[in-house]
Amino acid sequence: MPVDALGDYDPNNIFARILRGEIPCRRVHETDHALAFHDINPQAPVHVLVIPKGPYRSWADFSDKASEAEIAGFVRAVGETAKLLGLEAPGYRLLANAGVNAHQEVPHLHVHVFGGKALGPMLA
Ligand code: 5GP
Repeated sequence: MPVDALGDYDPNNIFARILRGEIPCRRVHETDHALAFHDINPQAPVHVLVIPKGPYRSWADFSDKASEAEIAGFVRAVGETAKLLGLEAPGYRLLANAGVNAHQEVPHLHVHVFGGKALGPMLA
């Protein structure tokens, strides 16, 4: 079910539980500010999610409330993740869904990293 990007952060969403170690994940990368792990239902040969460690629902929530260090750390971790996955040379796609129209399912900010094949043109 898609979720509204507005409202209070739900501390029991799936990604919060992954961050607390209550649910396992296949970890790719971890820093002070971010965690990257394989998507449970991959939509491409490589499909990894990168999430900030703080309690943010969406990009707007994150840019409103996160510190400069958290923002820089998260953005840097996305780039590092793509590099660690070996996607820099062949290329990759980043995607972030926010709110109902974008069909965001998990109300914790995340960036999808897709790669491992020619992805074709972007579809809206
Ligand atoms: P959204 O639609 O919110 O942008 O994407 C949420 C993503 O989280 C989906 O691609 C979905 O497969 C993934 N996901 C949902 N639950 C879990 C989980 O428990 N573990 C992992 N690794 N991924 C999950």
